[in-house]
Amino acid sequence: MVARIIDGKRLGAEIEEELKSRVSRMVSSSRAPHLVVVIVGDDPASHVYVRNKERACKRIGIRSTRYDLPGDSVQDDLVSLIQELNDDQDVDGILVQSPLPSSFDEIGITEMIRPDKDVDGFHPINLGRIVTGKTDGMLPCTPSGIMRMLESTGESLAGKKALVIGRSRIVGMPAALLLAQRGIDATVTIAHSRSKELELLCRDSDVLIAAVGRPGMVPREWVKDGAIVIDVGINRVKSEGGSKLIGDVDEGASEYAKWITPVPGGVGPMTISMLMTNTVRAAESRLC
Ligand code: NDP
Repeated sequence: MVARIIDGKRLGAEIEEELKSRVSRMVSSSRAPHLVVVIVGDDPASHVYVRNKERACKRIGIRSTRYDLPGDSVQDDLVSLIQELNDDQDVDGILVQSPLPSSFDEIGITEMIRPDKDVDGFHPINLGRIVTGKTDGMLPCTPSGIMRMLESTGESLAGKKALVIGRSRIVGMPAALLLAQRGIDATVTIAHSRSKELELLCRDSDVLIAAVGRPGMVPREWVKDGAIVIDVGINRVKSEGGSKLIGDVDEGASEYAKWITPVPGGVGPMTISMLMTNTVRAAESRLC
């Protein structure tokens, strides 16, 4: 079997088209949605991510403002900026780019952002809503992107065995909760660094979500015939021409899977589309 590709770029472009028309309706009735991105320090990868988010805003018609805080800023500088942005009626979404310098309390900062402006979906109220079965609010972007990709396959997940490798607050754990929601109805297993017999768990899974950050850690032979594979991992490795990005799942897994996401061009673009979706949603609930 050669897997069909779940093309995150194409799906993301479709989502952007839909968002564009929602934004233009808002512009004619009030104003464009407004996203504020805050970045602390000069981590090169973070600057690339922020630039990609700004470009997406531009394509869709979302106004974006960026605050660059110097690397020697302290927690209080960021706290006062967030307080200001929380109170600003002209701001719909606030995103603080991760990672923050190690002297910052990143979770504490997340908790300061007003939940209805938390377009990353990381505030405990927004994460907690998922546990209560409410999925109509600010969902964390990568897990909701994963769900949109699964939905795009048209495959029913009801009763299917889904394995999520990784239990982080921002990817693995919320993805597992979304898969187990009523209406999706997958039977979910969460694996992590202390899990045993990962190979057996993988071989038994109809849906495999890898969110670890270890290049090619899932060998192709571990993938069950006909499985759906969502590879969240983004790993930069050396290659002939310098370096390239690869996922957590061996590329050859497409020989076994029925559906698979590419890296790059899979979950990455969908994460940005979901951020844009949250921003438009935040603005609509404020303005419409
Ligand atoms: P974290 O480092 O926060 O979490 C990694 C998880 O993997 C942890 O739960 C860890 O377990 C688990 N793990 C580590 N080693 C093993 C192992 N040998 N076997 C099984 N589980 C293991 O990472 P994130 O969740 O933030 O990100 C995961 C990957 O996804 C990274 O490559 C990241 O770059 C990528 N990513 C991609 C995004 C996209 O848009 N495509 C967005 C966000 C992340 P334990 O809890 O026990 O430590």
